[in-house]
Amino acid sequence: MPASVAPDRASALLGALNPAQRTAVEYGDGPLLVLAGAGSGKTRVLTLRIVRMIQERGIDPAHILAVTFTNKAAGEMRERLADLLGEQPAGMWMGTFHATGARLLRSNAALVGRSPNFTIYDEEDTLGIVKRVMETKGILPRDWTPKAIHGAISDAMNSLVAPDEYARLAHDPLSRAAALVYTDLEGALRAHNAVTFDGLLTLPVRLLTEHAGRRTAYQERFRYILVDEYQDTNRAQYTLVKLLGAHGNVTVVGDDDQVVYQWRGADIRNILDFERDFPHAAVVRLEENYRSTGRILELANAVISANTQRMGKTLRSTKEMGERAVAVRSLDERDEAAWVVEEIVARRRAEGDIALRDIAILYRTNAQSRAFEEALRRQGLPYRLVGAIRFYDRREIRDLMSYLKLIANPADNEAFRRAIAVPRRGMGDAAMALLTTAAAAHGVSLLAAAAQPSMLEELRPAGRAALAGFAQLIERLRVQATDASVDELLRALVGEIRYGDYLRAEGPDSAERLDNIRELITSAAETVADDGGEVGLTPLQHFLQRTSLVAGTDQLDPAADAVMMMSLHNAKGLEFPVVFIAGLEDGLFPLARAYDDPSMLEEERRLFYVGITRAERRLFLSYAEQRRRNGELLPGKESSFLADIPSGIVERRETIRVRSSGRIAFGGDTVWQTGFGGSRASARRPGVPVTLGRRWEHEPDVASASQDVPAYHPGERVRHRTFGSGTIAEVSGSGAAAKVKVDFEDATIGRKTLVIAQAGLQPALE
Ligand code: ATP
Ligand code: MG
Repeated sequence: MPASVAPDRASALLGALNPAQRTAVEYGDGPLLVLAGAGSGKTRVLTLRIVRMIQERGIDPAHILAVTFTNKAAGEMRERLADLLGEQPAGMWMGTFHATGARLLRSNAALVGRSPNFTIYDEEDTLGIVKRVMETKGILPRDWTPKAIHGAISDAMNSLVAPDEYARLAHDPLSRAAALVYTDLEGALRAHNAVTFDGLLTLPVRLLTEHAGRRTAYQERFRYILVDEYQDTNRAQYTLVKLLGAHGNVTVVGDDDQVVYQWRGADIRNILDFERDFPHAAVVRLEENYRSTGRILELANAVISANTQRMGKTLRSTKEMGERAVAVRSLDERDEAAWVVEEIVARRRAEGDIALRDIAILYRTNAQSRAFEEALRRQGLPYRLVGAIRFYDRREIRDLMSYLKLIANPADNEAFRRAIAVPRRGMGDAAMALLTTAAAAHGVSLLAAAAQPSMLEELRPAGRAALAGFAQLIERLRVQATDASVDELLRALVGEIRYGDYLRAEGPDSAERLDNIRELITSAAETVADDGGEVGLTPLQHFLQRTSLVAGTDQLDPAADAVMMMSLHNAKGLEFPVVFIAGLEDGLFPLARAYDDPSMLEEERRLFYVGITRAERRLFLSYAEQRRRNGELLPGKESSFLADIPSGIVERRETIRVRSSGRIAFGGDTVWQTGFGGSRASARRPGVPVTLGRRWEHEPDVASASQDVPAYHPGERVRHRTFGSGTIAEVSGSGAAAKVKVDFEDATIGRKTLVIAQAGLQPALE
């Protein structure tokens, strides 16, 4: 241990623990469950327990495996530990379940039919391969979207239901279609040397189940296992913990009131059954909340007490009462966003010590971020999006990443398809089909086929030449990649394919995309081989592994001071002095589909509880009377979550626009309209009263917009909120009935016909 102040800091923190926390931190060998409410110090206990294991008990960090729920949480814990220990704990594994699974697979790839440089497929790659397997099975995307099929398979994988068992249980048409695809999916992935996100959990389970030698070796390696947010583990994750932790030195911490991934297979029984799975487990309960002021905690307790499926816990505030949460009624999502931003500016003026990063805006759906982004941009306030419009999801980034993936793994046909298409090389669908057939006939990858003109007799000479040129390019870069740094490689790539020119040729607005590419190169330069413990990976492999695991964190400049914006799910485990929760309307939060399903409604309520308990000092809840969703202006109604809060616990406010809108009370000349999006729920519910007339009076822009339909021309590039970017293929009709056909870039969306007046198309940003 180097001389440093760190041990003092650690002992100061140890000294500040309450007796229950101390018990958990100091507990010796054997299973330990810490079950406690939000902000009670579970994560802190886990961190200090590791510190103590290393410092006091002399445990080699290489024998410790710590699992967190998000990459962000892993990053924070890693920083914390380095800070407290005075150095990075050498050899310790720390990361999400998926990252841990990826590391296990890299070292044992052959045992699951892969080579160590396998590619991790993200959602889009996975949908691509699902779609191709669907084609071979004659399942039409018209009948079942690849997304629906993959959703069903993903559920099965996370519950560890194998393809044959799934096929036996499949009784409805969707499951039967999914079963056909599921059966062939693993083979297809093997052929591409790829693993899906779900595979990062299921393949390690298989590996450890089928290979006793490996299982014992890893049990010996990870003598101590610690898991944060254990309440949200699904079957596959739970099984991994059981397989690795057979020695019983397993510490898990969690809160049954914070299960928010039931929809993805999280199973509360995993935590409830811990004592059965690990006999003689010690159970520690923490009852003091150190995060939130009294009034915020009071609100949190009031909200969660409406749930019936809970164990019930005590949670006392240790802080001052503080101020009541504020609930704000706004006119629409723009008014809501404007209010939030004004409040941010006002708070910062009033209490000089609030940094932007102390402020979080949380919402139920990522699409809600846009209004806030615009409002913040107007005020010149920097912000960071966590988990939405992810950096690595942007088109230009995906384009370049597909090259990198192909360079690292020549068998990655998905990457090949994307790379060959940008910039265009004159390879039409017919030429691609010929190539695909030739590759399949010879049992080689698309890239290997492209490199051998003799396999491609049926192709036009120009096509053959284009393919051969492309294959040579990849080969040149591959050679370079063996020792070049990733930023050098990227620079070479961008130059070789003249990617900048390609973007500039698309239009005057390519500046942002070019900036993103510069950012990518910068981030590659920052990637040093710091993943620890992974021998034999090239810089490129390190980079790819890291970027595919970032899973939604736009982390190019983590140091910058900026307002944090994220979905409620992404906020798990985090805390902020000031929190805004937006969009508290029925049908949005809770989501409409929860109305018919009591257990889903309880999950939505737990999510609300998670949101409330992120706040340390100030909490604001907002909702809008109307909201644009998918280009349509729909009436909104205050969420039942808000309406059910006993009076007096929150302070009610209205935005200036609501106050000045000459409120006409509900009733009177109102009509009943259904809630969001014609869902089942809105059919069941009486709907929302909307005052006719007022909308037009106060929203002249909306009224005129529907008559003054913008004119489009074929070839023009546009952007749609949900479908993304595309190109106008056809225009027909006029006025309010004018329609366009748009070819969307996202292959799973394809061509759509849209009514211009309702589609809310924007000029494409690229
Ligand atoms: P969540 O359920 O939201 O994940 P948690 O139980 O993991 O919450 P922590 O994040 O560990 O809670 O702790 C909440 C806050 O309280 C943190 O800022 C932590 O540093 C602080 N804290 C925890 N224990 C103490 C203590 N004994 N004295 C002072 N502060 C504490
Ligand atoms: Mg925590």
